[in-house]
Amino acid sequence: MMKTEILTLLRESEDFISGQQLCEKFGVSRTAVWKAIGRLKKEGYQIEAVQNRGYRLAVTPDAFSEAELASRIHTAWAGKRLHYYGRTDSTNLRAKQLAEENAPHGTLVVADMQTAGRGRRGRGWESPAGTNVYFTILLRPDDINADMISILTLVMALSVSEAIDETAGTQTKIKWPNDIILNGRKIVGILSEMSAEPKYIHYVVTGVGINVGTQRFSEELAQKATSLEAELGHKISRAMLVEKAMERFEENYEIFRRSGDMGGLKESYERRLVNTGREVRVLDLEHEFSGRAVGINDTGELLVQTEDGVMHTVYAGEVSVRGIYGYV
Ligand code: ATP
Repeated sequence: MMKTEILTLLRESEDFISGQQLCEKFGVSRTAVWKAIGRLKKEGYQIEAVQNRGYRLAVTPDAFSEAELASRIHTAWAGKRLHYYGRTDSTNLRAKQLAEENAPHGTLVVADMQTAGRGRRGRGWESPAGTNVYFTILLRPDDINADMISILTLVMALSVSEAIDETAGTQTKIKWPNDIILNGRKIVGILSEMSAEPKYIHYVVTGVGINVGTQRFSEELAQKATSLEAELGHKISRAMLVEKAMERFEENYEIFRRSGDMGGLKESYERRLVNTGREVRVLDLEHEFSGRAVGINDTGELLVQTEDGVMHTVYAGEVSVRGIYGYV
């Protein structure tokens, strides 16, 4: 898309770029360049046009669009193929459909709004328009078993936590395995799903919802959810969050790939783990027990020590962890 390429050039250049340069670069007419500039202006970009000098990007709005995202993402594979939807049912569903159509590893689906956003165990993810981030990345790991799916969720949690802190200057925490916490409340949820036959996993999709701007949540969530802007009191760029998340994820994924487990990322993950040293209640489908969380192991399981001194390893699959006195 030439619009995206022009935006990328304008963003990278501090000086004016002449219309002639743009024509030569893309091998198109002046009218075509002028039309592409016109479309960017319609999306809210203020582009100065000065005779004999050319075009310059004056103000970058907090746009959240295919052109804005594509002009920012410069990773080798994570998010290199981008599918943007103003509104869709669920980015995980879209990514699974693209996977069935042979989309490559690293394909990214981003939406401004989800009509059927989902969490674990068939629960919903509140996904209003115009204010938050919803994305899913398609992964085709070369060697993978069912345990990898929970590890990929941890790799994503670490990456998104790092991306948020880089963008917003926060110190977010991770509630094992898949939630990101700011000031004791949930700002991110992550859901990984796979397509597999008994002995062969075709692909994994890892979906992320970041509460960036929501100011009021439903009654059910009011106590445990919050958003970045509600906590910080100022605007945060949604496009930059996606850009940084792709950068951090690509790097962390390569570290994961070298060992095939959480070994290389364990320290960074544990530094952000909110559960460490705290009493937690572990709830799975059959039973419930309490103990003190001490960290994770190389396969990403949570280590919980019970009063009798026994160390339990908790597998991420279907488990929820709660603080004794509240959400964390
Ligand atoms: P938890 O440990 O918080 O119960 P989970 O990790 O099992 O959650 P997820 O799959 O991450 O659950 O998310 C689904 C749950 O998150 C929903 O049941 C709901 O309680 C909560 N939720 C839904 N939408 C949002 C939102 N926008 N922000 C924060 N929490 C949400």
